[in-house]
Amino acid sequence: MKTISCHVIQDLLPLYCDQVCSRESQALVEEHLKTCPQCSALLGKMQIQCRISGQEEEKHEEIVRDMAAAWKKSQRKSCQKGLLIALLVCLLLAAGHHFLENWVLVPIPVQRILSLRAEEGESQVEVSYQAQIQSKVSDSTSTVTQEGKYYFTERESILRNKKGGRISHISFALPKEITADSGEKVPLTGIYYGTPGDCVAVWEAQ
Ligand SMILES: [Zn+2]
Repeated sequence: MKTISCHVIQDLLPLYCDQVCSRESQALVEEHLKTCPQCSALLGKMQIQCRISGQEEEKHEEIVRDMAAAWKKSQRKSCQKGLLIALLVCLLLAAGHHFLENWVLVPIPVQRILSLRAEEGESQVEVSYQAQIQSKVSDSTSTVTQEGKYYFTERESILRNKKGGRISHISFALPKEITADSGEKVPLTGIYYGTPGDCVAVWEAQ
């Protein structure tokens, strides 16, 4: 046993240091180290190096762990971002729908205005009709020209009601002396459904 040279032991030392050599080799190395300060010193150096590389490995593992955590975090963040965007899109759609339903009104064609008639009284003209309205929201607009021509239009929102239309009974009376859009009082000369460029006469002064 004592005849084993330092060279053989030093060949074994890396394995011994990593604790991967056989038990016999381990015993052999330990036996030798008891009496050989040179090999003991070499082992000491190797162990320090071994520890350093172990620490490096740990550090490396830590970096990988950090990276994984950061990735997970960014994934969570992008998931949150996605949810936020989806929510915003929903809100925008709802707002858009609300806007279209309540604020974008289009004229109802005269074909959907039923029993449109005017009755002339002494000081006023009474107009009545039924409008086939296909949306939830509707209104009517009117304009009075300087010539005393009264134009009116029934409007409905651009978004149609899925449940179908409804019939709205509408009537109004106009004095024979009417206020024009300009603010001036003028004699009423005619009542028309539609706009000055595209209308149907309901009543005209004789
Ligand atoms: Zn030795």
